[in-house]
Amino acid sequence: MKTLAHSNAALAARDLAHNWHPCTQMREHDGALPLIPIASGDGAWLIDAEGNRYFDGISSWWSNLFGHANPRIAAAVAEQAATLNHVMFAGFTHEPGLRLSEELVRITPPGLERVFYASDGASAVEIALKMSFHYWHNSGQPQRTHFIALSNAYHGETLGALSVSDLPLYRAVYGPLLLEPIVAPSPDWLDAEAGETADDVARRRLGDMRTLLERHAHETCAVIIEPLVQCSGGMRMHSPLYLAGLRALCDEFDLHLIADEIAVGFGRTGTLFACEQAAITPDFMCLSKGLTGGALPMSAVLTTANVYAAFLGDYAANNAFLHSHTFGGNPIACAAALASLAIFAEQPVLQRNLELAAHLAKRLEPLRAHPHVANLRQTGMIAALDLVADKATRMPWPGAERRGLRFYRHALAHAMLLRPLGDTVYFLPPYCIDESDIDRMVAVALAAIDVATDWRVQ
Ligand SMILES: *Cc1c(COP(=O)(O)O)cnc(C)c1O
Repeated sequence: MKTLAHSNAALAARDLAHNWHPCTQMREHDGALPLIPIASGDGAWLIDAEGNRYFDGISSWWSNLFGHANPRIAAAVAEQAATLNHVMFAGFTHEPGLRLSEELVRITPPGLERVFYASDGASAVEIALKMSFHYWHNSGQPQRTHFIALSNAYHGETLGALSVSDLPLYRAVYGPLLLEPIVAPSPDWLDAEAGETADDVARRRLGDMRTLLERHAHETCAVIIEPLVQCSGGMRMHSPLYLAGLRALCDEFDLHLIADEIAVGFGRTGTLFACEQAAITPDFMCLSKGLTGGALPMSAVLTTANVYAAFLGDYAANNAFLHSHTFGGNPIACAAALASLAIFAEQPVLQRNLELAAHLAKRLEPLRAHPHVANLRQTGMIAALDLVADKATRMPWPGAERRGLRFYRHALAHAMLLRPLGDTVYFLPPYCIDESDIDRMVAVALAAIDVATDWRVQ
């Protein structure tokens, strides 16, 4: 038994005296939103201070791959921490850092040959944007100062990353501080017109992109995209055909393609990287979240030999990329990433995920008939559905009714962590699960959907 001082309530109260939590209206911790002190992790499970267990159906914000407190990653971290914690990555290197770059170059699409490290996803996006701009500057085209982003995109919260994001909830208030991107319509297949397939939507949106490029390519550095799934934007999915077509357009109009695989990388969409499904190589690929198996903060930007070459020259020419983050290339994070990649190398992870994804699809299929479920969709190990007030018209619930929050609370009370994006319920489990975990996850979700969409509750 835990003493009262270590009860969930006591720890939450101490926390709330000082901590300011991310992406939270802190006032809601007065009652509407629970704050759960987690004491430990065990595979797909999180265990709170009172010993209650929660199945992590969203991989702790899409980062965890092989379970919490994964023994192999933990051992690699411990060993590295006892050997070399950190050394600056300018003027110094270390074996975990050079080995990780060798591995990343080997497993990412052909042509990505250079790796630049940072500590979180948003900084990787900042780096890709700055590198692209700086490449054009060094190449005698300083008039290229714009970026093209997609509607409904999300690339992080720092000012540059937020600039190329299109979610008003996060962006609107900071508008006066931000760069103005050129926004192209997302190829999201939920926007299909009558009779259109996902591929048709992709082709139509490529036409829109061509029109924008005809007008703006000469002043544009890059197009940035979340390949296959716009995760924060409500798990909206598009056809690989769009990616292939976008690569071709970027070649034709001579500008960069930035693939933000921060959420979709490392197997989420069924292939190790989403870009593989269109057989493309972007000019920049941003990685984070699953890079260390979800154990430590780390991100990387991979780019081509061509981009790299534009930054070489005399020191006096001042064309080097003088960007840095203190902890970029941290050896402990590198060791965690190497341990996670070793699991991919030694176990049939992607093959097993295909089976798990097929099982998830089978279990979710009956939900299509639910009177308040619309837009069931799945790409690999990411599945989502929207809670709607009226199925025929796909009419959403009034936002103030917080149906998604009700879903969240009901699921949590039944040992299941599923945290909707607004009224979009999604499943993004770690890979260390089995079919019975999926059965339980979907069963709890169905019960929570029934509770959250009960008309009698306003
Ligand atoms: C989470 C995310 C980011 C930002 O990463 P942080 O580590 O939270 O800064 C950027 N792009 C995508 C696609 C993401 O999902």
